[in-house]
Amino acid sequence: MRILITGGAGFIGSHLCDRYLAEGHEVIAMDNLRTGSTDNIAHLAGHERFHFIKHDVTDYIYVTGPLDMVLHLASLPSPVDYLNYPIQTLKVGAMGTHKALGLALYKKAKFLLASTSEVYGDPLIHPQDEDYWGNVNPVGPRGVYDESKRFAEALTMAYHRYHNVDTRIVRIFNTYGPRMRADDGRVVPNFICQALRGESLTVYDDGSRTRSFCYVSDLVEGIVRLMESDAVDPINLGNPQEMSILEFARVVLAVTGCTSEITFVRPQDERTRDDPQVRCPDIGRAQSQLGWEPVIPLEEGLKHTAEYFRHKLGLL
Ligand code: UDP
Repeated sequence: MRILITGGAGFIGSHLCDRYLAEGHEVIAMDNLRTGSTDNIAHLAGHERFHFIKHDVTDYIYVTGPLDMVLHLASLPSPVDYLNYPIQTLKVGAMGTHKALGLALYKKAKFLLASTSEVYGDPLIHPQDEDYWGNVNPVGPRGVYDESKRFAEALTMAYHRYHNVDTRIVRIFNTYGPRMRADDGRVVPNFICQALRGESLTVYDDGSRTRSFCYVSDLVEGIVRLMESDAVDPINLGNPQEMSILEFARVVLAVTGCTSEITFVRPQDERTRDDPQVRCPDIGRAQSQLGWEPVIPLEEGLKHTAEYFRHKLGLL
């Protein structure tokens, strides 16, 4: 197959490039490099089946030749990014998805939307299954991400219903692994880098909010299976092992063997406004329709991730 991956130089996108190349396909990674990095695809330079196009998907997308699949992962990935680039976040979710869908229609390619657990907002149903419509504040600081992804899901279904595009929607829950940005502000890189540098781990507020963390190879396996399935309705992919952020801080210290302190911080900016109090995927649909569930234990995934950051931060 010939596959376009938008956001292909990003964290998850670059792992998908690796996976599809390993399966013998031709991969075109497209990225504007705002949050993606050529470091993530440097090992693919010169690969005969890999191509990179620097392009912002909110502008018209032009790709020569046939395409069998368009995987649309381009997005601003972290809450700190949405705060710093709110308009770009809305544009890539809305206009970028429109351009990517238009391309898939023109090329008669199968389309994947990388959606998010953020469509559930601060959920009133727990764990979250795909039939839950969510609890999103449209005018809060996270609304730029949440609403653009909700719009993107609606647009994807409209292209499916009106234009018969063969579409898939994956709702990605917190995912971690090598190639996350050390400074993206999310809890996994923050805690690991703080631990490795001997700094205090910054637990926001009282650390009682919950998340569940999925290792990137598990997510990639789920996405590949989703593309092979005929599941048009959204599917959650994530790890249902839920824990509080305070517990997570302790796991990071145990895995890295670091002796940093844990400090409770009350951010003065808007980064924790509308922060979901709980989050955990119901993965029943992925289990029954894709035969998928995560297999990498948290400790193992965190070890690999810490190893990556040790190199990245020059601490080896
Ligand atoms: N968080 C924290 N300390 C940090 C970064 C994040 O306590 O240094 C908290 C954040 O408030 C949220 C959770 O960790 O409750 C997960 O945040 P993240 O930014 O990773 O992603 P989210 O799941 O909110 O999209």
